[in-house]
Amino acid sequence: MTDRKDELAANLAKVERRIADACEAAGRGRDEVTLIVVTKTYPATDVRILAELGVRHVAENRDQDAAPKAAACMDLPLSWHFVGQLQTNKVRSVVGYADFVQSVDRSKLVTALSKEAVRAGRELGCLIQVALDAGESERGERGGVAPAGIEELADLVAQAPGLRLGGLMTVAPLTGEYAGREQAAFGRLMDLSTDLRRSHPAATMVSAGMSADLEQAVAAGATHVRVGSAVLGVRPRLG
Ligand SMILES: *Cc1c(COP(=O)(O)O)cnc(C)c1O
Repeated sequence: MTDRKDELAANLAKVERRIADACEAAGRGRDEVTLIVVTKTYPATDVRILAELGVRHVAENRDQDAAPKAAACMDLPLSWHFVGQLQTNKVRSVVGYADFVQSVDRSKLVTALSKEAVRAGRELGCLIQVALDAGESERGERGGVAPAGIEELADLVAQAPGLRLGGLMTVAPLTGEYAGREQAAFGRLMDLSTDLRRSHPAATMVSAGMSADLEQAVAAGATHVRVGSAVLGVRPRLG
């Protein structure tokens, strides 16, 4: 094995152990939680190694980086998740490679995603990004819709051709009542997911938890954790 493959294998094993331990502590089956490795800022060669090591879900947050990477990895059995703030002028490109967009947070984006998914003949999984630090009718500073806006957006996605409503996503807030309270934040997301599933029973995905707080997310009931730096290393720049 190459040095990089050794390094990624060791990091992946550590993350895998953390997830397994968190599942056990929560009385959940390991198969209830899917690991998504966030490969942003890292090269396609790393994505290829991760696929060789058994990773099946990767995530990116900037189309400029993601599009060429996904193109270079088209032969790999990977699902691609888009998790960054998404401008409508990037939607056509993102729909070209993404299997899931986890950052759906406004109606204009739903319209654009639907149009491009239909045009590409694809079905795109969509998660509503929830901003737990946003005021009632606001959007979050890092994207996301306030909890009060979930239902309307979910109905829109569910009715939109080419889109499938997958569930909810959040990033633990740095400000507001949930700052520093990851467990409470993820618990709140679970409650919102329970509400959502009353009207949309198939929207079962709950995407929460990153390198620093995956245990809290698993404890709360997350179905998907998005782990970047714990697998790939601390990113050379903000991303
Ligand atoms: C970068 C990123 C992650 C992964 O963060 P790490 O702390 O590196 O694990 C997860 N979710 C989103 C939305 C991200 O942008």
